[in-house]
Amino acid sequence: MTKIAIIGGGPAGLGAAKKLIEAGQQVTLFEASDELGGLARSFEKDGFRIPIFYHHILQFDFATRALMKEFNLMDDLAHKKIKMGISFDNKVYEISKIKTLFWNFLSLNDKWKFARLYLKSKIKKDWTDLEGRNAHDWLGQAVGINVRDKIFAPLMYVKYGIPLNMISAAELAMRLGNEEATGELIYPKEGLHELYKRLGSYLERKGADIKLNSPVIKVNIKDGKAGAIFYNDRNGSAIETFDFVINTSPLPVFLRAAHGLPEEFRSQLEQIKYCKGICITAGFEKPVSKYYWTNVFDKPFGITVEHTNLCDIYPWKACWVSRYAPPEDYFALSDEQISEIFMSELKKIHSHIKVLWTKVSRSAFTSPVYDINYIKQMPECGTPIKNLFFAGIAITYPKLRSQNTAFESGYGTAQKILEKITT
Ligand SMILES: Cc1cc2nc3c(=O)[nH]c(=O)nc-3n(C[C@H](O)[C@H](O)[C@H](O)COP(=O)(O)OP(=O)(O)OC[C@H]3O[C@@H](n4cnc5c(N)ncnc54)[C@H](O)[C@@H]3O)c2cc1C
Repeated sequence: MTKIAIIGGGPAGLGAAKKLIEAGQQVTLFEASDELGGLARSFEKDGFRIPIFYHHILQFDFATRALMKEFNLMDDLAHKKIKMGISFDNKVYEISKIKTLFWNFLSLNDKWKFARLYLKSKIKKDWTDLEGRNAHDWLGQAVGINVRDKIFAPLMYVKYGIPLNMISAAELAMRLGNEEATGELIYPKEGLHELYKRLGSYLERKGADIKLNSPVIKVNIKDGKAGAIFYNDRNGSAIETFDFVINTSPLPVFLRAAHGLPEEFRSQLEQIKYCKGICITAGFEKPVSKYYWTNVFDKPFGITVEHTNLCDIYPWKACWVSRYAPPEDYFALSDEQISEIFMSELKKIHSHIKVLWTKVSRSAFTSPVYDINYIKQMPECGTPIKNLFFAGIAITYPKLRSQNTAFESGYGTAQKILEKITT
């Protein structure tokens, strides 16, 4: 049996573990936190578990849905068509084919251009012809300067934290076409955490060694091979050696741990920047609004996602208030301070709200910044180290960053290793 180490128990690491263990390999999975699920993991409130960052599943997330079916979560799905809005000047405007016609901040001509692009994005699925172009220039032609600067520039800034001229037009066009805005969304009534819990138990039953609270602190690379892994656990620190290593942790974390990487490869990976994020989950007495998703242009947060509009099983109404790429000093604020800032600004849009509780979650690594240069720096699944592989959203651009993409990436990397083992 081949010994394989997986660093990270998010969807990519778990996908890889599943495929490898089912193929009869010996798998050890190291996870730094106390729960599986990565960015999709959950926290507990009043006996319920809710994802720390907003999460839902799209209709075409086939890998995630297949897992939900396998782990008996499929019969119990909340499927819903959702409403989406944009907000500025403390007002919310609905995004829909009809309602967009009434937006009074766009001229008739602008509305037509916006609608034309929206419809085109539903039909055209392959946007590789835009590869190499930036979103600023492309949108200027596709929808005109007014729509670009009033809608897309703030919209993308709250999502990516970089200006339009740094964003790939191909990536933006792909996003426009996805069903997030119009399709049905899915959330398992038993909670997303059940997917990760059942998947983790299944892996353990099959013989995987899942080590929670066990951050990898050093990966030793010697003579062109990754060998010893140093990790911390409750008993202190420990070392194990493996035949193959799969990294799914964020690249800056991996670079800190990896000793002996070839210099050229290291500097390629060092070019990749990551986007931070802060997400507050809050419980309210009444629903915040009828919109599941609202992009907010002029507040310290950028998105509100009203979980209750998809899953209303809690004694309170749950809503996430989230911000990608927050200003640096937000990370220095305490949870109380950041909650106070976000909630008082939210009240300016929705004056009726009564906040019952908040929970602040932060990540320095929500995603690599898929800027226009990303394709040049992106690592592949295989690396110059013959037994070291990557999986996860660092290697899947231009696909959407999602659990589904990460699961698929884990399967793909596992397959590559299985091919190596058998040849
Ligand atoms: C705000 C937000 C909202 C999102 N919404 C959705 C959504 O609605 N639907 C959807 O499908 N996707 C959503 N995503 C994206 C989805 O969560 C990610 O694409 C997915 O989790 C990436 O999986 P991954 O396994 O590549 O990485 P991660 O989920 O980041 O997993 C990496 C794992 O590595 C662990 N790790 C880090 N360092 C170490 C170390 N030294 N040793 C051991 N382990 C380590 C981490 O703790 C983590 O568990 C969202 C993401 C964010 C940030």
